[in-house]
Amino acid sequence: MTNQQLQQRKSQVIARGQGNVYPVYIERGENAELWDVDGNRYIDFATGIAVCNTGHSHPKIVAAVKQQLDRFSHTCVMVNPYESAVELAEKLTDAAPGDSDKKAIFVTTGAEAVENCVKIARAYTGRRGVIAFNGGFHGRTNLAMALTGKITPYKHLFGPFPGDIFHAPFPIACHDISVQDSLKALDTLFKVDIAPSDVAAIIVEPVQGEGGFYPAPAEFLQALRERCDQHGIVLIADEIQTGFARTGKMFSFEHAGVEADLMTMAKGIAGGFPIAAVVGKSEIMDAPLPGGLGGTYGGSPVACTAALAVLDIIAEENLVTRAVELGQLFNEHLQSLQQKFPQLIFDVRNQGAMIALELGKSTDEFIPNPELTQALISKAADYGLVLLACGFYGNVIRFLPALTMSDAIAEEGLDKFEQLFIEQ
Ligand code: PLP
Repeated sequence: MTNQQLQQRKSQVIARGQGNVYPVYIERGENAELWDVDGNRYIDFATGIAVCNTGHSHPKIVAAVKQQLDRFSHTCVMVNPYESAVELAEKLTDAAPGDSDKKAIFVTTGAEAVENCVKIARAYTGRRGVIAFNGGFHGRTNLAMALTGKITPYKHLFGPFPGDIFHAPFPIACHDISVQDSLKALDTLFKVDIAPSDVAAIIVEPVQGEGGFYPAPAEFLQALRERCDQHGIVLIADEIQTGFARTGKMFSFEHAGVEADLMTMAKGIAGGFPIAAVVGKSEIMDAPLPGGLGGTYGGSPVACTAALAVLDIIAEENLVTRAVELGQLFNEHLQSLQQKFPQLIFDVRNQGAMIALELGKSTDEFIPNPELTQALISKAADYGLVLLACGFYGNVIRFLPALTMSDAIAEEGLDKFEQLFIEQ
């Protein structure tokens, strides 16, 4: 079967709501490279949307998963648990930023982790309100969608949404939204829309992911921590895209020296096996009754085994440091491209290996360039690259290399990107 034949078959049977960026069907992956069914090779700058931090089919994950499947495939952690779930919870609670006693629960997707954070925060506080941020993304289930700040395509046609969700501005220095502006708006929201004593939780991404790769300034996260402490509000860190060494720390909240009350983990947790977790302060985590959290597949033995292998690889291969190095390498190349095209490239930024190139120009006001972004994405495959867009206006190209990517492959990919950019 060729790419074209498979795309034709797909269009007949998979609804457009689950559309694909590239009509490219993958046959094989190895570390930072992919090969399609037509034999074309790609350098992967997307890692399955920030999932394969340890590269594709890392031999250590493959061996661990095979071994687990030879023993047993599934029993459900809520029926007959197994050691890998306990060990993973021990390791994740240790790895989560901060010194408080922590506990974990396992679910299957990022959106479920978000929903469970809200359930736990409401059970603990007995309050209804949840505050999220404009431009934030928290998933595609009903409550996660309601928390998400961007309407199209995530929320379009899907209402009604659950109530008691409020949005405040997220600080973005390059778009002139200062930390003070954001905090002022949050304080106004407390006065006008919902009293802080009715707010169960504030949920925030330490780097807005789908929203455009905007890192939250440390002082903003610190100020949220202070307000949550002042009003007894649960602070939820959504680290689904930022976790597992991606940003040059194990978790991005470490950059700000802030401990959240609850945090979400997914994506990079298990190298592609569907597992997500909520980790948080034990007192808060234990508020719901037994049986109120989790699900059939949450913390499956195969996924727990893969996640344990991922944690070993991050430590053994120093991937936290590698994320910093890769971030610098990408930044240097992209900044030199920006110097050549200042009218097209508005900003280059990164936190570790979460790297963004924002397209648009700023004269009196900022004019985003989603058209060029889209043109680059749709031509990327012809240049042997897998790239993704993000951003409120769809005008940001995000680079999410495997943290196991060599300098040689990173440079080859960046050269291809430069050629692609020049030829558009
Ligand atoms: N939260 C953040 C910050 C994300 O980036 C994502 C996915 O991109 C989600 C939640 C939803 O995760 P999932 O797609 O696994 O449900």
